[in-house]
Amino acid sequence: MDIARCMADDQIYTAAVFSNLPPGNLERMRQQLICAECAGPAFFRKATRNGRAACFGARPHQDGCGLAAQDSEQVIEGEGTDLDVLNNPAERIVVDLAFGALPREVHGDPNEGQGRAGRAPRYVGANPRPDARMHRRLSSLLRALIEAPQFSASNQLLEIGGHPEIRVRDFFVPLLNANPGMRGLFRGWWGLISDAQDGADGTLWLNGGGRGQISFCIPPELRAEVLDRFRLVDNEQLAGAYALALGELRISQYGKMYCVIESPNHIAIRLT
Ligand SMILES: [Zn+2]
Repeated sequence: MDIARCMADDQIYTAAVFSNLPPGNLERMRQQLICAECAGPAFFRKATRNGRAACFGARPHQDGCGLAAQDSEQVIEGEGTDLDVLNNPAERIVVDLAFGALPREVHGDPNEGQGRAGRAPRYVGANPRPDARMHRRLSSLLRALIEAPQFSASNQLLEIGGHPEIRVRDFFVPLLNANPGMRGLFRGWWGLISDAQDGADGTLWLNGGGRGQISFCIPPELRAEVLDRFRLVDNEQLAGAYALALGELRISQYGKMYCVIESPNHIAIRLT
């Protein structure tokens, strides 16, 4: 979208003006952007090395927002649907962390078909088979969360490594819903990233918003692999990207909520 409101000074900016703010102000203020019409959380993305102009986007708009149409060309492009978590009878989803987020073709992928619940034949409309299992990678789950609101409310059970099984609706937490009362919980935190920042020690921080929101911490030793896996060449690509990360909610001594990514397989990123 062309404009956004910054809550820091309650001004409406164009992306061009916003990109010319002094760097220190920009880094602070980009975490406090909202849609000028619907007040949904927004993000700012600097011009990228591959020639894309600076822009704003919403994370996302409220229903019916008149500015949503401006974002349509920025929104996820279809890659064919892989949303059969929704119309599949499997009661259980085994989260396949070994293949965390590698974008792979579905056809002929032996892991994707394991258990046969995830692929043909489908039993659309039938009752769930209690023993049915499907294996899903994080990237598939992130996609279902983004594109199918009913998935995040589902009662399907998740099996995740050595963790106790848990229902989908209890496990996945939108970034903006994370709160200090969830400290110590192992969850799938997901949503739109406001910005990515380099820490002094080589850590990469993916922020879910301002200081009051959760951030993901990608340690220096994992950074290169994560960036490579998602073909990221510029932190700006992460502004407005979707992320799903598995991990425990921690709180710093200053009250900042964060989640340390312990393996490249514990995070999926979807660029918008
Ligand atoms: Zn809006």
